[in-house]
Amino acid sequence: RGKFIVGTNFKMNGSKAFLGDLVESLNRADLDINVEIFISPPSVYIDHVRQILRKDIAVGGQNCFYKSSGTYTGEMSAGMLKDVNAEYVILGHTERRTLFKESDTEIGLKVEHALAAGLKVIACIGETLSERESGTTFHVLFRQLQAIVEHVQDWTDVVIAYEPVWAIGTGRVATPEQAQKVHAAIRRRLKETVSESVGERMRIIYGGSVNLGNARDLAKEKDVDGLFVGGASLRPEFVEICNVLR
Ligand code: 13P
Repeated sequence: RGKFIVGTNFKMNGSKAFLGDLVESLNRADLDINVEIFISPPSVYIDHVRQILRKDIAVGGQNCFYKSSGTYTGEMSAGMLKDVNAEYVILGHTERRTLFKESDTEIGLKVEHALAAGLKVIACIGETLSERESGTTFHVLFRQLQAIVEHVQDWTDVVIAYEPVWAIGTGRVATPEQAQKVHAAIRRRLKETVSESVGERMRIIYGGSVNLGNARDLAKEKDVDGLFVGGASLRPEFVEICNVLR
């Protein structure tokens, strides 16, 4: 299935000085070579961070548009992220879906565009609390997943992130059992709708209130292939989360 992943989403946080300090602490750290790590600074800092960060940690963007260039004020293309040596892009994050009104279809187009440009994609899906409570979790997740499935031919560079909206930034992490149940269902769904091997090989990572206290138990679950860290990635504990498999 490929290495266990620990990824970050810094969201709209940090400054050149703050990120410089954070990079320095990662550069100094003794990190597990069995874990693939990526960090995702705000786009204006990607180039700078890429230049000062150790090369065994990848850098990612938090979004991109689905066109290569043109009259799209304020947007950036996947090719531009590649141009500054980003390797990853996060797409379909719930904050993009909710605050910036990105539809399932747009996210599908973005995934297709980013893969064509040679980026690896972290494709995010997740249900809200009311969706979970009304019993529509799998309906929502499979709808979001289907819009991605329709736009992908080669799955080599895709990672799925399960990020329950109710767990993001709330301190209310999914239990390992809750995460495992959903990850297993996503994998089963991929086996049914794409292929047995794509489902089996897909790395499905969990995000939502991950911290040092809960990372180890989540990582033990059989279908949890990585952790996606928001708030805690800005704190010193992040280095220890990267070493969660030790
Ligand atoms: P928190 O870890 O702050 O809950 O955020 C998770 C997230 O949104 C990662 O994309």
